[in-house]
Amino acid sequence: MIELLIVFVFGLVFGSFITCASYRLPIDIDVIKKPSYCPSCQAKLGVRDLFPVFSWIFSGGKCRHCTAKISVRYPMIELATGVLFSFLYLRYGLSPQTFILAGMVVMLMIMIVADLEHFIIPDSVHVILLPLALLYHYVQGTLSPEILLGFGVMTALALLLHYGYSYLRGRTMLGFGDVKFFAVAGIWLSFSVIPVFLFLAGALGIVLGLIWRALGKGQVFPFGPALAIALFICIAYPQISNIMSFIK
Ligand SMILES: [Zn+2]
Repeated sequence: MIELLIVFVFGLVFGSFITCASYRLPIDIDVIKKPSYCPSCQAKLGVRDLFPVFSWIFSGGKCRHCTAKISVRYPMIELATGVLFSFLYLRYGLSPQTFILAGMVVMLMIMIVADLEHFIIPDSVHVILLPLALLYHYVQGTLSPEILLGFGVMTALALLLHYGYSYLRGRTMLGFGDVKFFAVAGIWLSFSVIPVFLFLAGALGIVLGLIWRALGKGQVFPFGPALAIALFICIAYPQISNIMSFIK
């Protein structure tokens, strides 16, 4: 129970990092070196402002210095990360899998927030997800040349969607950030799970796209969140491929 609480708090802290990184990476601000500041009044944040969730609640969702509203998105992201970390701990205990998948969660969350906010998947996300995938296969004992097959198929498919669609329709369906993500996801996924991943990503894409339009956010919709959630489900819930065996 104590362990679970510690894991949850770790999740909250990494959630803070996610909000910071997903805000800074797309606009090229150093994530590590520059201290936290209020984007409205540039005031440097003190210790009192840096407690995940609690700072937001106690400040009433406002900056202490300029009273600019702080989006409820920040504590939500922190809570979601805490919950996902706890879920991984309950499932895998304090194992290498938990640490690797927690790293994956952090990168996928940055990707989701950055894509929703800026229509960008920062390259740092791919740069970190790639070695994590190799580490994951190593720990699982599945590090074999077969992963190159997944990489090749997914890259080819993404390039086909990227160039084929813009050739036929004159606009882009799959941005280049998504193409790079397909390539990296191909390394994470074993070859046999790829159809499940594509099905899930497509289904989630349709649902999220409809919500996006219902919210009046425009015709162009970021595909990154659907891809990220589909990959997480396929990796953290390998059973899904048995349940969904009808599409294989
Ligand atoms: Zn401020």
